[in-house]
Amino acid sequence: MTRAPSSLLLNRLAQLLGPKGYTTDADIMAPWLTDWRGKYTGRAAAMLSPASTEEVAAVVRLCAADQVALVPQGGNSSMVGGATPDTTGEQLLLSLRRMNRVRAVDTAAQIAVAEAGVILETFHHEALAHGLRFPLTLGGKGSATIGGLVSTNAGGTQVLRHGTMRALVAGIEAVLPDGSIFGSLAPLKKDNRGYDLRHLLCGAEGTLGIVTAASLHLVPAATARRTAWIAVDSPDTALLLLRRLDANIGRELEGFEIIPHACLAAVLRHIPQTRAPIAAAHPWYVLAELAGEDEAWLGAALERELTAALEAELIRDVVIAKNDRESEDFWRLRDSISEAERAEGPALQHDVSVPVDLMPTFIAENPARLEQAFPGVRALSFGHLGDGNVHHHVQPPVGADGTAWLAAHGAAVSRLVYAHVIELGGSLSAEHGIGQMKRDVMAELDSPARLAALRRIKAGLDPAGVLNPGKLIG
Ligand SMILES: Cc1cc2nc3c(=O)[nH]c(=O)nc-3n(C[C@H](O)[C@H](O)[C@H](O)COP(=O)(O)OP(=O)(O)OC[C@H]3O[C@@H](n4cnc5c(N)ncnc54)[C@H](O)[C@@H]3O)c2cc1C
Repeated sequence: MTRAPSSLLLNRLAQLLGPKGYTTDADIMAPWLTDWRGKYTGRAAAMLSPASTEEVAAVVRLCAADQVALVPQGGNSSMVGGATPDTTGEQLLLSLRRMNRVRAVDTAAQIAVAEAGVILETFHHEALAHGLRFPLTLGGKGSATIGGLVSTNAGGTQVLRHGTMRALVAGIEAVLPDGSIFGSLAPLKKDNRGYDLRHLLCGAEGTLGIVTAASLHLVPAATARRTAWIAVDSPDTALLLLRRLDANIGRELEGFEIIPHACLAAVLRHIPQTRAPIAAAHPWYVLAELAGEDEAWLGAALERELTAALEAELIRDVVIAKNDRESEDFWRLRDSISEAERAEGPALQHDVSVPVDLMPTFIAENPARLEQAFPGVRALSFGHLGDGNVHHHVQPPVGADGTAWLAAHGAAVSRLVYAHVIELGGSLSAEHGIGQMKRDVMAELDSPARLAALRRIKAGLDPAGVLNPGKLIG
């Protein structure tokens, strides 16, 4: 059990961190107390913003001694309320945003060391300035931080080729729940000293340690990319196309996203300066991207495969971006879906994965199951088909009071979605994590053996439960 901070503790923290690192000002804290989706609003006794690993360690030691809860936060772009404190006002928000230095870039080893608060987009620019690329990107890149990305084992739109954050992390520096510093930034290819703490911290959602910096793998900056916006009839044909590109193009295939027409229409309605790449409406689109060194080869390979797919009637239409600007425009359509969906009104979001081959089954069958149980609901799936991961949003029936409808039926709708995912051998969180949004449903539906092991790991490392209580497993 954690406790409210005493005024003695708050004074010590204020002294330790100085005016730049400590605030109780309600206006300054307000934007950080509500999550990106606007589903959760919490309260905090203070917001702490340490500027160094040593300051983070000192904060954790003081709070651990007093059993005061800390909620780590990076860019606050969590999709599951992972970085929002509870409503007691007893927890302390621990912002890592002031730790925003890229400490080193080793171009020969293709490794960079970035502090937790470095924003993903800034890190992309830094890598590019060294002729390199950090191959992970996502719609929240303007706010998501390295610490948050590590702690959620984030995915995004290049996982197909480069893997999730865990595959890109070569080393981690973190403060553990007792305030000790775990310094393991050396990018060792081999390290077999038993349990890998780095892997435990990836995806731990701030419940096992505060990530203060990470060594990250970079790749050569792609000198060329080719992006195509493709119209298809169904997720089944999209999957056939994926298999074809995989077999005939292989490694250069970096992104493969599926988008239903309803999502494109929402983007065109709500996001300024967007336009449909293909004028005619089709039920589904695929956004595919190749990246590599040889522009001519990439262009020829993409054209060859898509022409063959058109002739075989596997795809209905296609536009290949003429230049980087057009590629960016295509990606903007994809990356704006979450924002457009938010503007459409209340909905239930599910970020789920199933084996790639079963994804078309899930996308086709789940809306039918939902419709049978909740007549009138509308379900939309979009996202990372190549990773077997879609974002499955369920909107209330037209004409219903959305908020009231979701309050009455939301939990049952989600259980139906997750039960289907589990039946297909999938996961109820593909890339966004568990946070507070999925904590109870995971406790209810996940395997008892896995849950028990997770709880023992948490209790062993953080017996007082000071790090991000109420999230993931706590
Ligand atoms: C428009 C949009 C699109 C998105 N698309 C994707 C996507 O495609 N794929 C994907 O995976 N995610 C996506 N996300 C979700 C989000 O961007 C990621 O979860 C991201 O990793 C969160 O980073 P953050 O810095 O904002 O973390 P926060 O939201 O601040 O925190 C997230 C979690 O990590 C913990 N945490 C944060 N920093 C630290 C730290 N230094 N040490 C320990 N714990 C910490 C928090 O306590 C919380 O549990 C999207 C978000 C938005 C808004």
